[in-house]
Amino acid sequence: MNVNDSHNFATRAIHAGQAPDPSTGAIMTPIYQTSTFVQKSPGKIVGEYDYSRAANPTRAALEANLANLEGAKHGLCFASGVAATGAVLHLLSAGDRVLLGDDVYGGTNRLFHRVFAQLGIETTLVDMTNLDAVREAMDERVKLIWLETPTNPTLKITDIKAVGEIAKANNTILAVDNTFATPYLQNPLALGADIVCHSTTKYIGGHSDSIGGALLTNCDALHEKLKFIQLSEGAVPGIMECFLLLRSTKTLHVRMQRHCENAMKVAQHLNKHSGVEKVIYPGLESHPQHKLAKEQMPGFGGMITMYLRGGIGESRTMLENTKLFACAESLGGVESLIEHPAIMTHASVPADQREALGIDDNLVRLSVGIEDVDDLIADLDQAIAAALKNSKACC
Ligand SMILES: *Cc1c(COP(=O)(O)O)cnc(C)c1O
Repeated sequence: MNVNDSHNFATRAIHAGQAPDPSTGAIMTPIYQTSTFVQKSPGKIVGEYDYSRAANPTRAALEANLANLEGAKHGLCFASGVAATGAVLHLLSAGDRVLLGDDVYGGTNRLFHRVFAQLGIETTLVDMTNLDAVREAMDERVKLIWLETPTNPTLKITDIKAVGEIAKANNTILAVDNTFATPYLQNPLALGADIVCHSTTKYIGGHSDSIGGALLTNCDALHEKLKFIQLSEGAVPGIMECFLLLRSTKTLHVRMQRHCENAMKVAQHLNKHSGVEKVIYPGLESHPQHKLAKEQMPGFGGMITMYLRGGIGESRTMLENTKLFACAESLGGVESLIEHPAIMTHASVPADQREALGIDDNLVRLSVGIEDVDDLIADLDQAIAAALKNSKACC
């Protein structure tokens, strides 16, 4: 298909990187489930491919599709989001420092502090919403700034453009994990980031049926280095996963529109609920960075964080009583999920760090799916009522 940069997101989501199969006319990119490709004579390959760890046509279509959606020149896919993160860390050497957002994904925190620290890479946690703190933490050893926005689970919003300027002034790479926003809501490269990272496991996949990651960049030199790391380490996705993700990106825009619409209604409802102490959602005016979120994103995503009027016991009862919201880790699927960060996703974050970040015992995280929003609201209402039936706080 002849899509180009003048086409809008929905058109590019469906067509970019894909053309009918030249040998059969199949409209969908085939699953080239092959490890190797025959050669005409030793060293003379038939087309562009020789071995699927290096490159595979199904994966190439996905890499081109994701690159297009992020407004990037280059895309690389990995076996998981953390494998993609690890590839970026392999750009560094012993003695280098990294500034890491202070409430990034727990697995990212673990990878920096417990795997790459052993290789002599030093990590400093920084609240990326505090630009003075970012400036103060810089020195000539800092080779990478890694941030997420919105963050997980407290949904803090970072000014990508401002941090990008700090990175540029200090000759440091800025990498943004764009998993929560997706390319539909935010394109960090256009705001000055050098690398965008995705866990495609979440919204990009959208159906909770695959694990994967991706890196996108406009910089030829960074791309060549990352491609070499991808080839050398071999953490590449399976071909079937690439095919599933090509199906997924065709509906990314439609799913994201509904995620945003449903989450806004759920957040507004919870915000007035007497059993809820506080709701964090970037689309609410009460969000501390609502104005920045509005400037940086055309919609506010599907993630909501709420503080229940109760403690660990009440939270647990709420999670045991939802009927539509499934109690599970992960996020970004068409189905709604509910989880308790202090017990589940962020249990590996030390208790004092959790407390400093506001990951309290009554904090509950919602991944709002694309079911009927009235059904979702009714489900939360009955679960909160069950949790607080013995408490004076509510209902
Ligand atoms: C899930 C997640 C990751 C890790 O991705 P995997 O695909 O699970 O390896 C990284 N960053 C964010 C923001 C995530 O939500």
